[in-house]
Amino acid sequence: MKNVGDEFSQQLKKNNWAKDYQQLIREAFADQEVKQFLNENKEQLSKSELLRSASKVYEFVTVKKRLEKGEEVPVPGYKPKLVLNNHLIEVAYVPSEQLLASKKQQEIRSRVHSLNMPKAIKAAQLSDYDLNGREEVAAAAGNFIEEYITDPRKFIQGMYLQGSFGVGKTFLLGAIANGLAEEGFHSTLLHFPSFAVEIKNAISDGGTLTMIESVKKAPVLMLDDLGADQLSSWLRDDVLGVILQYRMQEELPTFFSSNLSMKELQDQYLTINNRGEAEPLKARRIMERIRFLAKEYTVIGRNRRLS
Ligand code: ADP
Ligand code: MG
Repeated sequence: MKNVGDEFSQQLKKNNWAKDYQQLIREAFADQEVKQFLNENKEQLSKSELLRSASKVYEFVTVKKRLEKGEEVPVPGYKPKLVLNNHLIEVAYVPSEQLLASKKQQEIRSRVHSLNMPKAIKAAQLSDYDLNGREEVAAAAGNFIEEYITDPRKFIQGMYLQGSFGVGKTFLLGAIANGLAEEGFHSTLLHFPSFAVEIKNAISDGGTLTMIESVKKAPVLMLDDLGADQLSSWLRDDVLGVILQYRMQEELPTFFSSNLSMKELQDQYLTINNRGEAEPLKARRIMERIRFLAKEYTVIGRNRRLS
């Protein structure tokens, strides 16, 4: 491409362009990518056309250099590309690899629908899960993802994660949801005590039914921190009971996390309502659904929130 460059310089002089500008343009034409582009398209570019395209080549090289230095560019996220349009060179802006990657990441995240879940779960990955004594529960989580992506219509029992505060139950639920999202599947994670408050608030504007409908039909549902609040009979039977009944009938994967074991959940949380009345039969009905939907796992470990 030496020739094109030299001839081009001559043209610049003839046209009496300012010296500084000539220098800038010359530098732009010395760029490797520009040289290659000119070489590939030399049949289609005459000298006068090259001259008319000079500012575009300059634009291309300038933006490219700014990007390399991490400086601000006219269209953030896009990178310049030389294209030929009707014998003239133009600069097209195409999405950069980073933009494509961040769009893909956004798309993945948009498949995890959550209510009042800690921000940290957005980044939770099964591959980052610290195994130490939790091999069984991690393997079960991995198996679930594997089985679900193989055939999402087949019923797969979810997990009931039981364990004390801070051992990583919520993290594991997040990691499963993110694993599914990467494969294109949606899931819904609800911090159950917050959901209970929201649904109570929705009574006044008649929104409870819609909320129950959307939650009960979630392809994969995760109820986090079940048992952390006090339940009214209405929440237990007409909200939780309805949701779980539907999921059992439709065989939709459902997960739970709780500080309580299944037995404690039944005997305490589900039996004694917020007025202190004991309703063991009602509690048993709910627990049957939970047992059908999920297998109990104990998550052990240190309280990670203290370190
Ligand atoms: P739990 O729901 O059992 O109370 P969390 O899932 O909220 O516990 O975990 C407590 C803290 O430890 C959170 O900040 C979480 O992001 C972090 N954490 C939990 N498990 C892991 C892990 N395996 N690797 C890294 N961080 C973790
Ligand atoms: Mg939690």
